[in-house]
Amino acid sequence: MTRVVGSIPPHGGQLVNRVLRGALREAALDQARSFPRVQLTQMAVSDLEMIAVGAFSPLTGFMTRDEYNSVIATMRLTNGLPWSIPVTLPVDDDMAAGLKEGQEIALMDGDHLMGMMTIADKFPADKEREAHEVYRTTDEAHPGVARLYRQGNWLLGGEVFMLNGPQVIEFPELRHEPAQTRRMFASRGWRRIVAFQTRNPIHRAHEYIQKTALEIVDGLFLHPLVGETKADDIPADVRIESYQAILRDYYPAERVLLGVFPAAMRYAGPREAIFHAIARKNYGCTHFIVGRDHAGVGKYYGTYDAHYIFDEFEPGELGITPLFFDYTFYCKKCGAVVSAKTCPHSKEDWVNLSGTQVREMLERGEMLPEEFTRPEVSKVLMEGIRAKKQNSQEQS
Ligand SMILES: [Zn+2]
Repeated sequence: MTRVVGSIPPHGGQLVNRVLRGALREAALDQARSFPRVQLTQMAVSDLEMIAVGAFSPLTGFMTRDEYNSVIATMRLTNGLPWSIPVTLPVDDDMAAGLKEGQEIALMDGDHLMGMMTIADKFPADKEREAHEVYRTTDEAHPGVARLYRQGNWLLGGEVFMLNGPQVIEFPELRHEPAQTRRMFASRGWRRIVAFQTRNPIHRAHEYIQKTALEIVDGLFLHPLVGETKADDIPADVRIESYQAILRDYYPAERVLLGVFPAAMRYAGPREAIFHAIARKNYGCTHFIVGRDHAGVGKYYGTYDAHYIFDEFEPGELGITPLFFDYTFYCKKCGAVVSAKTCPHSKEDWVNLSGTQVREMLERGEMLPEEFTRPEVSKVLMEGIRAKKQNSQEQS
């Protein structure tokens, strides 16, 4: 057992490591080539990697029926530990019919052998109930619910081993695993670290939140999600470039670490806020920023639901400390970026744009207002969107 570095223990006490290396990996690869092959969904590819590197500690595999039901009903694992999102391996009816409990299977990312699993449990997914409890809606227009309804009707549970990373590894230089970030934080002498989850570019409001949080801790871990997102979210490579542009000129290098979070986005709002916090605790973060409508989409969640849900746990149960932030924006009367909590003025004085407005302006080649987004970021986003448009025109 390797000693876990860091000022906060991983969720459940131990950092899971299900990555096989060296001779063990070679032997496992030889065996796994003859196992029945199970195709992973794009989300399951992310989940397998997250489990294997310990980001989802204490999970050591895909959930069995008891864990699945317990998480859906109580937001806890069967041992009582808080856990808010099912992590499952879905397969379709035909595939399920050919598999039985106790069998060993090869986990495939396309034709790339990624891992292996012993089937501990095979059971039907309870999609309606999962949608209702986890996503708080059964509306198929919700992107997380739509994905849930699209996937196979059966779930396979069991412990996994990862033999190879995913077929496509984006941002390898930023893909710090939990054991690595814990060492990086320690070597910088950071004891209190705040994590910032995002799937959006950094506008001035985000910068304000990050820097306000940084005032009270030692380091900021900027941790954008780069797993599967909705088609209309800004592509991850463009977002990463915009972060790098702004970090260079406006953030103290010795107090910020940029890494990518390879998880898939669920859009489960409040429940995903808990999930995001627990994962960042595993990376060694002591604090976690929860904004308004965290991990939300459309109008499915109340503005502060992702804050309220933290009250459903006893203080200390989650370990990581949430930092709640309100709606933030530039106010012309205040002459600064402020929040609904600190500004006494009215909406007419606030500079704010919706995601749709931002996209439309960038597509027209217009810079976003400077009070809203730094010009360096506007430029990167505009070029990124133009390149994406060109690519899709060339392909069609
Ligand atoms: Zn104001």
